[in-house]
Amino acid sequence: MANVNQSERRIKKMVCFFKRQSPIFKIMTEAIKKISKKDACPQCFRPLPLCFCAKAVAHKNSLTVLILQHPQERYKLLNSASLSHAMLENSIVKVGLSWRNFSHVLGREVDPKQWGVLYLKGQGESGKGMEIFDSKKRMMTAIPSMKGLVVIDGSWKQAKTLWWRNPWLLRLNRIMLNPQKASRRPQMKKEGLSTIEAVALALECLGEDPAIPSALIKNYEDLILRPR
Ligand SMILES: [Zn+2]
Repeated sequence: MANVNQSERRIKKMVCFFKRQSPIFKIMTEAIKKISKKDACPQCFRPLPLCFCAKAVAHKNSLTVLILQHPQERYKLLNSASLSHAMLENSIVKVGLSWRNFSHVLGREVDPKQWGVLYLKGQGESGKGMEIFDSKKRMMTAIPSMKGLVVIDGSWKQAKTLWWRNPWLLRLNRIMLNPQKASRRPQMKKEGLSTIEAVALALECLGEDPAIPSALIKNYEDLILRPR
């Protein structure tokens, strides 16, 4: 009996070892690393030695960027929503799971037809960085006049939860991002992008000053992925 238990333990140990070596395990570990609230800057939510508040310069963007952040995302080490917010003057972050309707999120009346919600389609499938569909899933041939875009900040599972709990999102246009390049950090899905990469790609495709997406990506690399 003792021998059976010993071999079971040995097998379990081996399975754990191989799981730890697997790329998916490494990605998951990196993606869920969190920092403790007491060690974080209260403004940018980064560990105090890595605070970027004095380094991230804000840019004037014309389209409003509304980030809906899942409550479990704020203190993740690689989260990029707070950097996006710090660098975009015209941006809002709302933390939560559900809101009654779109006007409830923004605290004012809004026309959902003038907004788009970002959605990841695939990796370079159509050759276009972006495609826009209306709320009836009809592809739009030209970029509609828009006031802003909604970005969901969370893992795939958390994003699914936010979609499911906020059916008013279906009334917005759908901005399908089709990244031509892989994300700068390992993702669970090959078409995955960090929040700031998705914002940068969308702003670039929607005609914002190209200096803004470039600055977002540069600071993402310098301040989040490889901070000094
Ligand atoms: Zn800070």
